[in-house]
Amino acid sequence: MSDFEAVNNGAKIGHAPKPLWLLAEVTYRCPLHCAFCYNPTDYVTHTQNELTTEQWIKALREARKLGALQLGISGGEPLLRDDIEEIVAEAGRLGYYTNLITSGVGLTEKRIAEFKRGGLDHIQLSMHDITKEINNFITDTNTFELKKKVAAMIKEHDYPMVLNVVIHRYNIEHIGEILDMAEQIGADYVELANTQYYGWSLLNRAQLMPTKEQLLKAEAVTNKFRERVGNKMKVFFVVPDYYADRPKKCMNGWGEVFMIVTANGDVLPCHSARVLPGLTFPNVKDADLDWVWNESPAFMKYRGDDWMKEPCRTCPDKEKDLGGCRCQAFLLSGDAESADPVCSLSPNHHLIEKAIEDAKNPQLAAQPIVFRNDKNSRKLVDGESDELVADFHALP
Ligand code: SF4
Ligand code: SF4
Repeated sequence: MSDFEAVNNGAKIGHAPKPLWLLAEVTYRCPLHCAFCYNPTDYVTHTQNELTTEQWIKALREARKLGALQLGISGGEPLLRDDIEEIVAEAGRLGYYTNLITSGVGLTEKRIAEFKRGGLDHIQLSMHDITKEINNFITDTNTFELKKKVAAMIKEHDYPMVLNVVIHRYNIEHIGEILDMAEQIGADYVELANTQYYGWSLLNRAQLMPTKEQLLKAEAVTNKFRERVGNKMKVFFVVPDYYADRPKKCMNGWGEVFMIVTANGDVLPCHSARVLPGLTFPNVKDADLDWVWNESPAFMKYRGDDWMKEPCRTCPDKEKDLGGCRCQAFLLSGDAESADPVCSLSPNHHLIEKAIEDAKNPQLAAQPIVFRNDKNSRKLVDGESDELVADFHALP
């Protein structure tokens, strides 16, 4: 705790957080249609009102003044915008460490050279599987060959090779081969990110969730690979919280280090926060980020621990996880202030146990996947797919 105390409706917050991480979700448009996408299921309502280049530049300047150091440029597919070069160059001038998070679609020699000149530090490329069949199925596209070409281009331009692989039932048995492929293409970092269930992946949860046995095997294979390659490649294995006993410290705490500006300019403390009831999120078009971060009711709402109920309020572990994820608590239990159901001490933990059982039910697991695309998003917005969302209190 430091020398600063803010006041939230009379409740003290013991320190002055800074938004060290700024994530710019510059567009929700995307040529891929991933079954596990964490983007909001109503993204189609945010594709016609994207911020302009000038509005993005203003947001970058305001966030930098607040202390932001790391900038992630993501989407959707950020490369669908033709001003990413300008945004990167401005980020470079402002002194950000900038990471482009991309599927690779739209990355060309000309663009990557321009990014290099503009000071882009890092490119994170998503990969899906070692087989063409699974890559193309899970993304509902034909992008398998393109991924390898883009990986080679990134390497040629002397960027660290950073791969992100979302893990689910369709590729978890291939983890060893995926890691071998990463080694062959000279990866420096690989993130094996087990699916977290938000957005489209929540809709497809029973179809995507691996079994605990598959997970343990995948972790063992990863550890063996790590032993073999040593420091040559860093491998992160992000454990899925449904199989954990305690929840994650979501976003390292609400409004603690992380700020997201979405395609239409809404400012959020986490990807899914718009699902939470009773909160209005400010927009960069009409609010200064200093006010948003330091004073807006939405960013103050779950800072600190005054909002907590039992069992979190008196729990000896509350500093470790801050009660887990507010969005997951609301999506599954309907109560945003309750303990994350992932926690085995939560009165709603049975909801996680049921989800794990559902994923073992062959009938539920064989349901058709709802791919992330405009048509399905529109149907969800128009209430034509209500049977898909009946189990949840909202959808991100
Ligand atoms: S997860 Fe797939 S569909 Fe979603 S934004 Fe990324 S590439 Fe696009
Ligand atoms: S009861 Fe709450 S604070 Fe304690 S471990 Fe569970 S989620 Fe965390």
